[in-house]
Amino acid sequence: MIFDIDMIREVYGQLPEKITQAKQKLGRPLTLTEKILFAHLSPGVTLEKFRRAEDYVNFAPDRVAMQDATAQMALLQLMNSGRKNVAVPSTVHCDHLIQAYKNAETDLHTAKVTNEEVFNFLRDVSNKYGIGFWKPGAGIIHQVVLENYAFPGGMMVGTDSHTPNAGGLGMIAIGVGGADAVDVMAGLPWELKMPKLIGVKLTGRLSGWASPKDVILKLAGILTVKGGTNAIIEYFGEGTSTLSATGKGTICNMGAEVGATTSIFPFDEKSAAYLEGTGRKEVADEARKITPYLQADPETANNPGSYYDQVIEINLSELEPHINGPFTPDAAFPISEFAQEVKEKGYPRKMEVGLIGSCTNSSYEDLTRAAHIVRKAKEEGLSVNARFIINPGSEQVRYTAERDGILQEFEDAGAVIMANACGPCIGQWKRTDEKSERSNSIVTSFNRNFAKRNDGNPNTHAFVTSPELVAALTIAGDLTFNPLTDTLTNSKGEQVKLAEPVGFEMPPRGFAVEDAGYLPPSEDGSKIEVSINPQSNRLQKLEPFEPWNGKDYEELPLLIKVKGKCTTDHISMAGPWLRFRGHLDNISDNMLIGAVNAFNDETNKTLDPVTLQYTEVPALARKFKAEGLGSVVVAEENYGEGSSREHAAMEPRHLNVKVILVKSFARIHETNLKKQGMLALTFVDKEDYNKVQEKDRISIVGLTGFTPGRNLKVVLHHADGSTDEFEAAHTYNEQQIGWFKAGSALNGMM
Ligand code: SF4
Repeated sequence: MIFDIDMIREVYGQLPEKITQAKQKLGRPLTLTEKILFAHLSPGVTLEKFRRAEDYVNFAPDRVAMQDATAQMALLQLMNSGRKNVAVPSTVHCDHLIQAYKNAETDLHTAKVTNEEVFNFLRDVSNKYGIGFWKPGAGIIHQVVLENYAFPGGMMVGTDSHTPNAGGLGMIAIGVGGADAVDVMAGLPWELKMPKLIGVKLTGRLSGWASPKDVILKLAGILTVKGGTNAIIEYFGEGTSTLSATGKGTICNMGAEVGATTSIFPFDEKSAAYLEGTGRKEVADEARKITPYLQADPETANNPGSYYDQVIEINLSELEPHINGPFTPDAAFPISEFAQEVKEKGYPRKMEVGLIGSCTNSSYEDLTRAAHIVRKAKEEGLSVNARFIINPGSEQVRYTAERDGILQEFEDAGAVIMANACGPCIGQWKRTDEKSERSNSIVTSFNRNFAKRNDGNPNTHAFVTSPELVAALTIAGDLTFNPLTDTLTNSKGEQVKLAEPVGFEMPPRGFAVEDAGYLPPSEDGSKIEVSINPQSNRLQKLEPFEPWNGKDYEELPLLIKVKGKCTTDHISMAGPWLRFRGHLDNISDNMLIGAVNAFNDETNKTLDPVTLQYTEVPALARKFKAEGLGSVVVAEENYGEGSSREHAAMEPRHLNVKVILVKSFARIHETNLKKQGMLALTFVDKEDYNKVQEKDRISIVGLTGFTPGRNLKVVLHHADGSTDEFEAAHTYNEQQIGWFKAGSALNGMM
């Protein structure tokens, strides 16, 4: 048995009493989010009226999950923590390092060869510390977690921003940096700012072309990429029970795109059916016994405005299929308005590649609905007019879909079945039809569409939508095609409409798999040696960062003033750089190379204030570091949005950047910066951003009295001898100030 039924029984044994006590203490009904959070307070934390989006609270999550790209740094930190074994069930999943090029078999073989050192390291550390290991080819972390580990009422952290996928099964699942995961694996309290609550009431029932993906695509348009910051999105209303568990997972997964801490659905019979269908009848039975504790109290739905900080209502019966993009997931368009947008904005109309997969949309249901469209189109004499790529979410889904003839239907339509892995979703796509930086359009069922994310081409216009619409647009080969209203010409010259999608929530003959790809850890890992070759360019032992020197930062040179969107992809690119995720010095050569310099609108060109030459950002940071100088990065809104990768915080730390001063931060990234001992500051008056000049030296005054809630002073020393002064805010609490002083949270742990 892969899942830990004893742990789940222990959690369920305590949930009712803890939730009842919380209700009594607060004297009111509780939302589902509150129930699970209050039942997971760290030992010693007393329940009180925590202020949402203000109070930091310590929690005790039940599980940890890590993917191969982020696990390297997390496990390197775990090795430095002095612990012998993980304190909670934890898993590592090899999914990001597999490049999509030819087909599943060839690519998997190549990945095993090129990443052998890293996979062996992850396997050995997992074995040593009691961590379950999912081999390359086993599947994408969030699909594997949903199939095996997620359970209603549980709480987990994962070193990946789409960890909230498990909310589809009623779990509070939060994406974190590796240092946070190490806290949980080391048995330490895990700290989170008590989130606000966004209640999304779902009414009605989906039909026709509308899919669960459209719920979150529409919501992304409403909330934008920042709208969920420091909030948990809780779905309620009768519409929730009409959605499959994997459909709910899709919605929760992409809540990360609005910056939400996580998203969650209540436990219902669809959840129970999925648990049973994936071999976890015991969990379904246990959950059924405590159903009221795995749902919000009914009173909260009667007057949601009293319990949620924001309430949004979506009628599933009226929901139109959506397509979002390009370059940002919150540019949301109902399909009826999309063609006009394509024409007005001059997006490349030819649809070049359709991609179905990713942790967002690679379930059995997704594949069957898309395959149905393809099958019916073939029966109607229609051909497929764009390249077609499918990445199944897990070996279990792949094996079952192959057995049921689904994959064959895709292949008959010309699709290539790639490995059960992230592949094109994270720039691990060796795209063979596009070598230049030509402007072109692709449509994916993924969650993210930042520039260069899929194929490294900044001019690839990537649009995210449901697998059903990916299939339809791939058949049409035209971005302006609307399958609800438009027809296509078949081989006989007739005009035909595509058939509405029909699929199976779960395989009628049940799931099957020969080798799911799981390796349990040794009972006793104490004798297992983990070696890191000092000559390796993939792995590097971590050296502790220097503690703070006790002084204000004085006249640090500006490294770069970033303009516009700056996601973790801009700060620490993925794609070819994924191979250095275990080697801090090597990967630091990608630091901020995707960020646009506000002074010249170019990427990776920043002014060396001494030579007055434009130089690469990492090179200038290394030069400052060699001279014993720290430096400062200035940026705009939602800095660090996107993923949980802590490399985006560790690289600047390693290259001696001292301060990140921005208009606002994305939640996970701000925490990552704090954990690595960086100073993360925000402009009190956002207009002060405009005062920063290219050759500035920047002082941060007040660090000797660094105190929660007290602003620091920023002094800009301009090249002409003049100065500007203004205040910068921070959100550090006492403990986090301790991390800053110690040099990192890990230094504080040792
Ligand atoms: Fe993998 Fe893409 Fe999902 Fe990230 S978002 S876990 S890269 S499939």
